[in-house]
Amino acid sequence: MELNRYDYIILGGGGSGGWLALAMKKQQFFERYKIAIIEKDASKAEDRTWCFWLKSEPDAMLAQLIAGTWKINRHHNKELRLEPYTYYQASAVKFYEAIRNVCPPIVDTIKTISQHEDGVTIIGENNQYHAQYVFTSLPSLPIQVDFLQSFYGWRIRTQQPYFSPSGIDLMNFSIPQSGCTQFIYILPYSSTEALVEVTRFAERPIDEKEALQLRDAYLNNLQYSITYEESGAIPMTAALDVTKRFHGENERIIPIGTAAGATKPTTGYTFLKMKKHAEDIVAALTQKTPIPKPYRKYRFRLYDRILLRILRETSHYGKEIFDRLLSKAPQALVLKFLDEQTTLFDEAKLFATLPKRLFLKNLWLELKWKK
Ligand SMILES: Cc1cc2nc3c(=O)[nH]c(=O)nc-3n(C[C@H](O)[C@H](O)[C@H](O)COP(=O)(O)OP(=O)(O)OC[C@H]3O[C@@H](n4cnc5c(N)ncnc54)[C@H](O)[C@@H]3O)c2cc1C
Repeated sequence: MELNRYDYIILGGGGSGGWLALAMKKQQFFERYKIAIIEKDASKAEDRTWCFWLKSEPDAMLAQLIAGTWKINRHHNKELRLEPYTYYQASAVKFYEAIRNVCPPIVDTIKTISQHEDGVTIIGENNQYHAQYVFTSLPSLPIQVDFLQSFYGWRIRTQQPYFSPSGIDLMNFSIPQSGCTQFIYILPYSSTEALVEVTRFAERPIDEKEALQLRDAYLNNLQYSITYEESGAIPMTAALDVTKRFHGENERIIPIGTAAGATKPTTGYTFLKMKKHAEDIVAALTQKTPIPKPYRKYRFRLYDRILLRILRETSHYGKEIFDRLLSKAPQALVLKFLDEQTTLFDEAKLFATLPKRLFLKNLWLELKWKK
């Protein structure tokens, strides 16, 4: 087995590994260093419909990935404007291509990672590697995840116009809840093409058969063909929450992506958070300052824990909570809140739309349970 030496190794060429490689390769500072990505999947292609929202124009890096833009959320057939935000889809194909252009991944499956005095050793199926720093997105969760956002999505093409292309439908609750919180997410590309995704928040992930039944009930005998499929299960857990802002100066194995807590537990959105974390890591390495974690403020972590408790213990409230939020609060305020950019005053306005007793009771339980 060969030993290959690098300065920086990125484990996993998915979302977070990709953003980190792109951010490093943009900086002249890293030209003097040997950087490698190691990825087990030799043919990463279109495997997820990455969406996010922004108030400002996307930067050059994001702009080259954009595959769709929407300015309206169509909730209960009402057109609700997102402005000043725009909802975007990034192309996974273009993202993986951009990574291959700057840092073609080494194909290997990692078995072990260990830190020593002089760096980090990685054992793969094919080779052995050594680096000063390792950034890892490998899904080695040290916790039991007992609540998931699970989903099956299909890009479908109809013969007759069926969709309203101007607006997404973030959470369509017209399907039976079956003791969980579940909804259809629609991303229309034209009047005859859309991504239709059946999503469930629950302990028990949705299986393909259930998702197909819900999709077909929703589409109601419509004639269509399928052009793309995706599925996933994203951990909805506070156990990955980061409570410290920085890694210690001797830490050489740095988690990134979902494994590092970059996924918002109550929504699953991660894409921009991984990008920001990558840029912050690059800034820290160039300025020789402590390496940051994807830290979130205490109160936003607490809000997530309260909502997760409600969804876990009293799942029948899920539909009502999200429905109220999306129907009664301005969409821009909801997006700002999900971005964790709201003020306490904004949050008071949002919380006024929700069942107050339920949230206060769960706040109390959450604080009591934490002690
Ligand atoms: C289908 C889907 C749709 C999503 N949509 C959105 C969205 O719209 N917006 C959003 O913000 N988030 C979304 N997410 C959530 C999140 O953005 C993604 O999960 C994101 O890919 C997480 O990035 P990551 O780097 O942590 O993990 P990944 O992107 O999964 O990267 C990990 C990489 O590690 C590789 N790997 C694993 N084990 C090994 C090993 N032993 N050796 C070598 N390589 C290994 C994997 O092949 C993979 O490429 C979605 C997730 C899924 C699954």
